[in-house]
This record gives sequence, structure tokens and C-alpha cells, in this order.
Amino acid sequence: MPNEQRVGLETNTATQNTASSEVPAAPPLLLLLVLFWLSILGHEAAHFGVGALVYSSDELRTGIVRSWPQLLVVCAGPVSTMLHMTMSVLGARSSQNATWKLAWSSLVASAASRIAIVGYGTLRGTAINDEQTIGRILGISPRAIWCLEALVAVACIVYVARMWSPGARPQILQWIAVSVVVGWAVTLVAGPLLGLPI
Ligand SMILES: [Zn+2]
Repeated sequence: MPNEQRVGLETNTATQNTASSEVPAAPPLLLLLVLFWLSILGHEAAHFGVGALVYSSDELRTGIVRSWPQLLVVCAGPVSTMLHMTMSVLGARSSQNATWKLAWSSLVASAASRIAIVGYGTLRGTAINDEQTIGRILGISPRAIWCLEALVAVACIVYVARMWSPGARPQILQWIAVSVVVGWAVTLVAGPLLGLPI
């Protein structure tokens, strides 16, 4: 066999071996879905947690709130999403186990998907969301806030994607995409039914 063909075969085999040792044996879709919902609930819990700390009992009772506590409460959601996304990048980077690395990667994608899903309304100026409220209170463009979040999200996604070998990447991407799409589909139906401000 010519040397070039042998080298090609050896490279392919090496890529397949790396991919098979990197990818968990079975798709842990239930784990990925649970992590997705924890990610969504974490964002809402940050709003509720900071609200419980900074709003007075009168503000909680009447719903008429001062600007600075409202700013803290609204900022808590996006800040928690950004923290969760960047911490998950560090988790994926330090993880040696394939399932944990996948779990951390899926958390990065879950946080990034929240930013993506509010993008259309924020850029068109029709959404009533965190970016719009923060922009109104601070007098800055909600679109600029969203673009900054999207920039960080894209950087995190690219960084995490490059942690996986080219052979493993399509499988990992497929599992995470399924969990994010199913996760959002269930959340957008069940959230309003349960009274959650998703
Ligand atoms: Zn929020």
C-alpha cells in the first residue's frame, strides 16, 4: 500500500478512535433535558431571589417599584445567564469524563439559546424583556445589550465546539440540538400554563 494511502487510513482510524472515546455510549437526552430546564429555572430564580432581597413589602404588594431595585432584579436574570454560560465553559474545559463534558457543553448551549430566542423581538424593538427594561432604565439601546450578550454567547459556543474532536462534533451537536429544541418546545407550552414568566 502506498505510504500516502496508509497515512490517510491511519489518520481516519485515529479520528474515529478519538471520537468513540469522547462520545458517551448512549445519548443522555434525559440528562440534557433536565440540565436545560435547570438552566431556564436558574435565570428565573435569579430574578425572584434578588427581588425578594431588594423589593420592599409595599413594592411586592402593589407591584409599583422604584427604578434601582427594578434594575437589580431585571439584571439578575441576564447576569446569571452570562455567569452560568462562562462557568459552564470552564466546567467543560476541565472535565475529563465524556458525559460531564457533554453536560457542561449542553449548559453552554442552553444559556446561549435563551439569548438567541429573545433576539428577534429585541432587535425589532417589539419585545418586552430584560434587555428592553435594562435599556429603558439606563437609557441605553436594548439592541446593544443584546448584541453584547450574543457576542459572548457565540464566543462561548465556538470555544466549546473546538474542545470536541471533528469526529465527535456532529454527534454531540445533534444531541444538544435535540435537547434544546425539545426543551424550549415544552417550556414555551408548559411555562405559561404553570404561570412561569418565561
Ligand atoms: Zn429574565
